[in-house]
Amino acid sequence: MIVVIDGPAGSGKSSTARAVAHELNIQYLDSGALYRAVTYLFLESEQSLPKFFESLYSVQLTFKFDNEFQVTLNGERITEAIRDPMVSEHVSRIAAMTKVREYINALMKKTVQNDLYIADGRDLGTAVFPKAECKFFMIADLEIRAKRRHQELNTNGIKVSYSEVIAEIKRRDKIDSTRDNDPLKQADDAILIDSSAFNFDE
Ligand code: C5P
Repeated sequence: MIVVIDGPAGSGKSSTARAVAHELNIQYLDSGALYRAVTYLFLESEQSLPKFFESLYSVQLTFKFDNEFQVTLNGERITEAIRDPMVSEHVSRIAAMTKVREYINALMKKTVQNDLYIADGRDLGTAVFPKAECKFFMIADLEIRAKRRHQELNTNGIKVSYSEVIAEIKRRDKIDSTRDNDPLKQADDAILIDSSAFNFDE
């Protein structure tokens, strides 16, 4: 069984999915973290696409939920490194590639077969898990999303200005919602939650 939450960056979907997973003692799958992990691989491949695709099919990408969503690449922990602004800068472009989406989608479908999951992303309710038992689409005003993301990055020791964060979110929103391959979109049967005026518990 799978519950999905889609929505733009900073809408509260990851924190909510993680909290629900803790509360219900089920698994959490952060699909954005997987796109970030392959973007990390792209950066490691010196931003060469041929090198990147060559390593994509031989790389060992593993992940598990244990209090937090942990990611390793060829045994190296990259849980923190995938939040680097450099990864955020490139991730939407890498995630728009058909081969990358096929790779991540296959990985996710295989993973969720044998357990109860809550997952968050952009296209889970529309493209990856169209038959998910329960679908949500979370949104929030741009300024509020940027404020949350800015606070989160600062808490994690990543120094970026508010104006940089808002510009990056705007840019990613645009690429994610206008790409040809499975764009960010609310599924017809998803429940819409606008978290703008909510505190976390609400
Ligand atoms: O969720 P997060 O902001 O970490 O996701 C990073 C990026 O990964 C998004 O901006 C988007 O480009 C890509 N992504 C995607 N499809 C998903 C999840 C994330 O294209 N299901």
